Amino acid sequence: MATESTAVSEEKQGSLLQDGSRKFVHPADVTGRFTRLRWVVFGALIAIYAALPWITVGGHPAVFLDIQRRRFYLFGETFNAQDAWLVFFLVSGVGFALIAMTALWGRVWCGYACPQTVFLEGFYRRVERWIEGPREQRIRRNAAPLSFDKVWRKVLKHAMFAALSLLVAHIFLSYFTSLDQLFQWVRLSPAEHPEAFGWMAGISILMYLNFAWFREQFCLIVCPYGRLQSVLTDRDSIIIGYDVKRGEPRGKVGKEGAGDCVDCRRCVVVCPTAIDIRHGLQLECVGCAACIDACDEIMDKVGRPRGLVRYDSQAGLDGKPRRFWRPRLALYAVLGLVGLVVATFSFASRTQFEANLLRAQGPPFVVDGAVVRNTFNIHLVNKSPQRATLVLRAEGGDGFEYLIPVPSVPLASLASINVPVIVTAPLGKVGEQARVKLTASMEGVEGEQRELVAPFLAPRHAGGERHDGEPGDAPGGHRS
Ligand code: SF4
Ligand code: SF4
Repeated sequence: MATESTAVSEEKQGSLLQDGSRKFVHPADVTGRFTRLRWVVFGALIAIYAALPWITVGGHPAVFLDIQRRRFYLFGETFNAQDAWLVFFLVSGVGFALIAMTALWGRVWCGYACPQTVFLEGFYRRVERWIEGPREQRIRRNAAPLSFDKVWRKVLKHAMFAALSLLVAHIFLSYFTSLDQLFQWVRLSPAEHPEAFGWMAGISILMYLNFAWFREQFCLIVCPYGRLQSVLTDRDSIIIGYDVKRGEPRGKVGKEGAGDCVDCRRCVVVCPTAIDIRHGLQLECVGCAACIDACDEIMDKVGRPRGLVRYDSQAGLDGKPRRFWRPRLALYAVLGLVGLVVATFSFASRTQFEANLLRAQGPPFVVDGAVVRNTFNIHLVNKSPQRATLVLRAEGGDGFEYLIPVPSVPLASLASINVPVIVTAPLGKVGEQARVKLTASMEGVEGEQRELVAPFLAPRHAGGERHDGEPGDAPGGHRS
């Protein structure tokens, strides 16, 4: 039999036993205001996660990350690989906002919104509870020898876990491939799309292993966010804590001199990471608030005020006033704000198309009798979410003649093309400062016009002194 010190020591280790092996956690059911709130949030988030690829904004899914073709669609905006710099500001803004949120409210993200929590609590634990019963039954059945009852429940549970994992994997994949493509893959034999099938199977297996077996270990071992918690929070951050002053010394109801904690361990058995919140804030606490609801339930039963375990700051739990603004919070908030503001302005100032005037490969100019010729390519990218026509126009001047074989270019969303442009001028009549000038605009879109300017290159002796040529034909120049 475990001594009291051993038992306490095992409690402190959460889901690890003293020998380092894992203790599989079977959290008990709990009800209460925070559990109900979490259910509402889980339901809404699962609906949002599943619906985003189905909702169409500007002719594309609300969120579609087409990595293979490096095209990204976000709520009607389209991005390509050249927009990657925007991600830096977005990620840093969101990252510092999350850090500021942690400094304010602890691990509220983990407890309410992280997909690991949402799918584990929203799907898998529900199925487990439904098939195998409450915590005590599950523990008893697991410890019992093999029986028909045990086998059919395990088989059914894992079959449903596998089906759920397939569903979650397909929801995940729908962010990275079009729904048409996904449905096509589902209908076709795996032999016809082995690579896609491999991805789907691999992700489904990972989902199954994670949610059926790994569970809270993902938060404890894999996720870096939990490990940052101790440096992100301080004595004024809102955490889930136990009121030591009020609760200690623990004792049964009626015991003389005892505090409010009746040592029922209800807060421990509901904990999904099997820790005892009475030992203070721990790395393993994912902020689920199950221990608050559990303890409130007990306090109601014994007729004591709720809130022995509650949302409070460490300062508050010690009976001291809580500061809202602290230097670290101000710093995190400013950094988050800077990132988000820069990202917002950068997104807002994005143009509907890209146009770049590039000198064509080969000699920089060709002398053809009495004229000199420069050849360019205009690289066009339609960055709007729909098909559009880009119009190229020569601005004239400086005696140039422009030949634009395709002045009107229809392009699909995020498609790109190189359009050749040939510019000629009379030999010897072009000044050193002469510039080729064109404009690119999008048909039907006001105010979106790009000016494209490049120097016109000609032989030095014919067009005056040029910095890039030798007397006679410039290097690379060619007479025909
Ligand atoms: S200590 Fe409480 S809030 Fe933290 S994980 Fe356990 S039950 Fe959830
Ligand atoms: S649920 Fe409340 S009363 Fe029971 S052990 Fe936990 S803190 Fe003490």
